[in-house]
Amino acid sequence: MKVLVLNCGSSSLKYQIFDMKNEDVLAKGLVERIGIDGSRIKHEKTGKDPYKADIAIPNHKVGVKIVLDTLLDDEQGVLKSLEELRAVGHRVVHGGEKFARSVVIDQEVLDVIEECVPLAPLHNPANLMGIRAMIDVLPNAPQVAVFDTAFHQTMPDYAYIYGIPFHYYEKQRVRRYGFHGTSHFYVANRAAEMLGKPVEDLKIVTCHLGNGSSIAAVQGGKSVDTSLGFGTVPGVLMGTRCGEIDPTVILYLMEQEGIDPKSMSHILHKESGIQGVSGISSDLRDVEEAASKNNPRATLALNILCYGIRKYICAYAGAMGGIDAIVFTAGIGENSTTVREMACTGLEFMGANIDRERNNVRGKEASIGKPGSPVSILVVPTNEELVIARDTRNLAIK
Ligand code: ADP
Repeated sequence: MKVLVLNCGSSSLKYQIFDMKNEDVLAKGLVERIGIDGSRIKHEKTGKDPYKADIAIPNHKVGVKIVLDTLLDDEQGVLKSLEELRAVGHRVVHGGEKFARSVVIDQEVLDVIEECVPLAPLHNPANLMGIRAMIDVLPNAPQVAVFDTAFHQTMPDYAYIYGIPFHYYEKQRVRRYGFHGTSHFYVANRAAEMLGKPVEDLKIVTCHLGNGSSIAAVQGGKSVDTSLGFGTVPGVLMGTRCGEIDPTVILYLMEQEGIDPKSMSHILHKESGIQGVSGISSDLRDVEEAASKNNPRATLALNILCYGIRKYICAYAGAMGGIDAIVFTAGIGENSTTVREMACTGLEFMGANIDRERNNVRGKEASIGKPGSPVSILVVPTNEELVIARDTRNLAIK
């Protein structure tokens, strides 16, 4: 039973094909620069060297066709016929308040994803392009949408309503939505498995730290709060996004420096964060290296990031009335021993004791707290594609 997972960006398309019998990844790849000069596909059949080809890919439909052709290829492929492909799962960024779980895509679902375009103007249109291209090329396979926002729909209203006039929520749908839900869901459940306890009995703070980052409070398997909000700027310091900020700073700068909304948005999303503070790079590896050579602004960026993570862990322990585990995931969470150590130093009072030696791990599941501590500290590499593949199988294949 084979399932294709698609994650479509405005000019790129990532895919993985699973055999759901054992949840094996048969192949994965990336189509880049769709509609731009220099478009190409990188494809990797499990166990084989990666294959790369430069091909003109003017739009997503052609991109999807090329992916399917590659999956059928004698040498690089993993399918004998498209009939073997039982369903396609799509990552969709925004499902608004309509979707608290994954759904089989029909016209009504497409309409709601379209309605949510103003809430995710960069992502939802790209996701829709991927879905429509796939429906065109593969009209008989069921398609499933898995939303980044869905997992956080369990937040209580006092966690998602902002303190502005209520009619802005009613009329403009302004509220905290949260993102990276598929990742928070996966790592919280995997952490429970690693701890040998039902997720329903646990209070977990999941720290998804990548280029974009968010922290979530997962109580009894449900998200009860998360650090990203209406948009993808708040919370902890990110690669190029500022994280928590006093909104009056934005108004003040716009007035003082004559910055228009579009430029301000660019500053907050693309020029801030680790890049903006360090002035070196948005890539944490570069900043860690500079900090190790005592570069003061690199050190400052690292301190802001880790202090922010520590504050959120404490805030969410408070929100849940306790904490059983802290989980680190995504590029930084899975790989940066420095960030994990700095973020957890100071949490000993709550029973979270990081173990320096056990923390010396990268990119694999590990328990990095001192044995016997009341609060476990875990590294869990995320696997959003697997969640999408599982939801797709469960919903679309009878
Ligand atoms: P995205 O949000 O784009 O999916 P990732 O989850 O891939 O991002 O995370 C990218 C971040 O992870 C970058 O800041 C990168 O520097 C960081 N990272 C990756 N490997 C390491 C490492 N070995 N040490 C420290 N940081 C790392």
